[in-house]
Order: sequence, then C-alpha cells, then structure tokens
Amino acid sequence: MLLLGPPGSGKGTQAERISEHLGIVAISTGAIFRANVKRQTPLGLAAQKYLDAGDFVPDSVTNKMVRDRISEADVGSGFMLDGYPRTVAQVDYLDLILAECDRKLDVVLELTADDEELVARLLGRAKETGRSDDHEAVIRHRLDLYNEQTEAVVARYAQRGILTQVHGSGGIDEVTERVLYSLGRFVGVA
Ligand code: ADP
Repeated sequence: MLLLGPPGSGKGTQAERISEHLGIVAISTGAIFRANVKRQTPLGLAAQKYLDAGDFVPDSVTNKMVRDRISEADVGSGFMLDGYPRTVAQVDYLDLILAECDRKLDVVLELTADDEELVARLLGRAKETGRSDDHEAVIRHRLDLYNEQTEAVVARYAQRGILTQVHGSGGIDEVTERVLYSLGRFVGVA
C-alpha cells in the first residue's frame, strides 16, 4: 500500500501503527533520507540540500533508492511506502518496479488536513525535534509542493479506484481507528 499526505498530516505516526496492524514493513523515504544525512553517506550528501530547503530530492536519486529498498527480503509479505510517490514521474517509475516484480498495489491512503492546522502542528514539532526543515518558510514551501505536485499523484490513484482518504484531525487513536476502518474495504484488516 501507499501512504500519502501533506507534511504534518501524521503520516509517520500512522505508518507505524498501520504497518504493525497489517504485519507489513513501512518504508519512509523521508526517514531513509534523514538517516543517511545523519550518517553523511553519499546518498545523504546528495540529498541534504534538498531536505533542508524542503525541495523534492531529484527523481533519479529517489527512484533508485526505492527500487533498491523494494528488492530487499523483508518486503516479501507486503509493504507500505510512506511519502512515495510524490510526483507523477515517480508514479510511472513505481508502476515499472511493481510490474517487474509482479506485484500490485491494493490501496492508496491519503491523510488529509487543512493547511493552517498543518503549519501549526509542524511549528509545534519543530520545537521538539529540531528537524532542519521545520521552519515556517520551508514548511509553507513543502505544503505548496504537496498541493502543486502530489495532488496529481492522488488524482491518478483515484482514477484507478484504489484511493481512500481519511481526515487526519483529532487524536492519534481516533485517526488510527478511522484509517483501519477505511482500509478494511481494500485489504483484510483484523
Ligand atoms: P514531510 O511529509 O513532513 O515533508 P517526509 O519525511 O515525508 O516529511 O519528507 C522529508 C523530505 O524528504 C522531503 O521534504 C523531501 O526533501 C524528501 N523526500 C521524501 N520523500 C520524497 C520523494 N518521494 N521524492 C522526493 N523527495 C522526497
């Protein structure tokens, strides 16, 4: 499955809960980039300036990373991509990777929220985590990119009939409940 949603929508938190519930591995492209930046690996060095500016890492870098990750053994019983694809070109690339390994998407979940609530949440998070991209100008830029580019991704999956949207406002447990309920139409949820 795919998990999409604007920055601050609670993707990371819900990804953990959903993957645990479904018994599948959660792969967050943002978390992989941040871990590589921290360790200053070649991938991290290539990605750092984009993360700091709130820009998308170029597709050439991101696509290869996802392809490598999906070829690992732990994705055997299914997987969730959190934060990928974010561009229509990444959608096309993912279609190719999935066709190659003869797998298909069961469901694409979008967590939605209002822009002003997202900004407020992210500014709050900035105080706790000190993430280098949680400053107001960068936050607004990341939201703009989501609205300009990733909404087209969401539209693609809506056309395919595998999109489900859940409002990300309210308490964490409340959102998880809504999410699991909405996933029930597409996958076997206990
Ligand atoms: P958020 O959704 O709050 O922006 P993420 O952890 O999902 O947080 O992503 C953080 C950053 O990682 C993005 O701003 C971008 O620089 C990079 N990134 C993550 N996923 C992708 C992707 N699919 N394509 C390009 N860049 C990405």
